Amino acid sequence: MGKQKLIRELTKKDLKKIKLIAFDVDGVLVPRGTKIKQTGNVTRLETKRILPEQVEQIKNLHFLGFKITINSGRGLYMLQDMFREVLPFVSLTYENGSATWYQGNIHQHVNSFKSLYRVYSDLKSVRSKYIKGFEQKEFIITIHCTNRVKRIEEIVSKHRNLYTIWNGEAYDIGMRNIQQKSRGLQSFMKVLKLKKKNVLAIGDNYNDRDLLSSAGIRVSADKARLKGDFYIELNKKNLPAKQLMGQIIAVCS
Ligand SMILES: [Mg+2]
Repeated sequence: MGKQKLIRELTKKDLKKIKLIAFDVDGVLVPRGTKIKQTGNVTRLETKRILPEQVEQIKNLHFLGFKITINSGRGLYMLQDMFREVLPFVSLTYENGSATWYQGNIHQHVNSFKSLYRVYSDLKSVRSKYIKGFEQKEFIITIHCTNRVKRIEEIVSKHRNLYTIWNGEAYDIGMRNIQQKSRGLQSFMKVLKLKKKNVLAIGDNYNDRDLLSSAGIRVSADKARLKGDFYIELNKKNLPAKQLMGQIIAVCS
């Protein structure tokens, strides 16, 4: 890979073959972090919404002819809530590439039922003051914790076909090399009949290296954690997605 360029160096020519733009969510379209609280059988989750300015930008990209796909570890119900206003213009690949919602249809990319059914019960029995709660998921397991919990890692490590990803606030547990963002993106690219050169992807964290690897143009929203062809400087006021979309709209309209 050559030198990473600043996003404002992205040109219309660079975008010539790009038909699909893939967005990571947390740290890109909304600030990082999920608030969760579980008391007995009651789980409370905070829903973040994208800002009106990003709604307008997504619509603009759509009218410029780009397809937009959201790729996240979050569950579908939550992504639908977050992106309610732009659902006609986006597809949602959720739970680390497990499935894609597209215009009301669900394209399921993996079946993790047999692999995760037993380990879920084992994980439910773990007692630790660090565990905040299990997030509702269909295809992966997500456990929010205030700190790493060794027992969780031990249980999962007994299953060679499973992974744990600790992202500083939660564990994602899924099928190794299968339930990952890139696999979901690639499966959805087949639905749209697109190739790698047709895709631009943006992410901000270590686990997005895999997402970016399926894209012709890679954009990093955190240069310290992730390499890209282009990068966006961390800026508390302007979300990375805002800066990326702003640049694409500016050079294409
Ligand atoms: Mg992220």
